[in-house]
Amino acid sequence: MLSYGRQTISENDISAVVEILKSDWLTQGPSVKRFEDEFREKVGARHAIAFSSGTASLHAAAWAAGIGPGDVVYTSPLTFMATANAVRYVGGTPGLVDINHISLNLDTDQLPENPRGFMPVHFAGLPLELEELSRKLEETVIIEDAAHALGSQTPSGPVGNCSNSDMSCFSFHPVKAITTGEGGLVTTNDDDLAARLRAFRSHGITPVPSKGGWYYEISSLGFNYRMTDLQAALGVSQLRRLDEFVRRRQEIAGLYREGLRHIPQIEIPQPVKSGYSHSYHLFPILVQERDSLYSFLHKKGIRVQVHYVPVHHHPISSDVKIGERGLGVADTVYSRILSLPIYPTLTDEETNLVMNEIQHFFEEQ
Ligand SMILES: *Cc1c(COP(=O)(O)O)cnc(C)c1O
Repeated sequence: MLSYGRQTISENDISAVVEILKSDWLTQGPSVKRFEDEFREKVGARHAIAFSSGTASLHAAAWAAGIGPGDVVYTSPLTFMATANAVRYVGGTPGLVDINHISLNLDTDQLPENPRGFMPVHFAGLPLELEELSRKLEETVIIEDAAHALGSQTPSGPVGNCSNSDMSCFSFHPVKAITTGEGGLVTTNDDDLAARLRAFRSHGITPVPSKGGWYYEISSLGFNYRMTDLQAALGVSQLRRLDEFVRRRQEIAGLYREGLRHIPQIEIPQPVKSGYSHSYHLFPILVQERDSLYSFLHKKGIRVQVHYVPVHHHPISSDVKIGERGLGVADTVYSRILSLPIYPTLTDEETNLVMNEIQHFFEEQ
């Protein structure tokens, strides 16, 4: 059975976790600190704050930025609901503008002038171009939902270095670039945001050592959104193989691009511009006969997936503010999009098998 994505766990990953089980710390401790240190070094950010999930990291970022009732925060309709929900958790309103049909990222020309907040999603791992935009959106809080884009590069460096944003949020769910089982992280270059993120992760607690070793104060609402040392040890071990993982994903993407370009019914989106790299969390194709191809491949044991049912199609989204030009491109893309299997342990043979079955499907049409 092939799936659209899955984790890659080594013997070293397993022993790293077992080591923690034998140590003094299980919950947030020295391994979380080590994971944060190695992560911020890897992406080139000043601070990294680990969380219990990507969703928790988005919630924390929206709160730390001071988003609240009356604030509209724009994002892409082609994302997982957690992006929009982060805005809802703090009482704000998600805003949606349409996507570009080639990059599948948000069409930034459709953003209103200086919105309160903007959450770019680097769809499938292709970075949304933020270099010019971030200068134009001077007043806007920019929180990158970088859940797909760990390991992607831009002309201003690795995604996550926050050179064109206030914060970047990552997820370590098993289908993502690296995994901690469940887990997330926020990077930022702003010391105040970092302090707010740390407090939010653990009940709003601020230590005040001048009043005694035991003394702490809680002056803001927080949660228990901590990552455990078990998860962080897995994260440290996985992070060291990130480059290798991304290289293999890019190889598989190369095989698909080469092997599928002869099939006229298939459109392969997301060409990569010079200066950028695509880390291929997903490999999406666009096909008119999407629903029947989905069923055909599932019958052959190839569990392709649709990413995503757009944000505005869900009943919860009666609250969203939609841009003047509507969401027609997102709707069309949604009716055609399909994610093919892509993960580091997928072999060349398996990649060819997927392409052969797609070929068979069109021959039978
Ligand atoms: C995976 C994902 C999330 C949520 O991350 P979790 O770790 O599952 O909470 C948020 N946004 C996007 C775009 C994602 O792909």
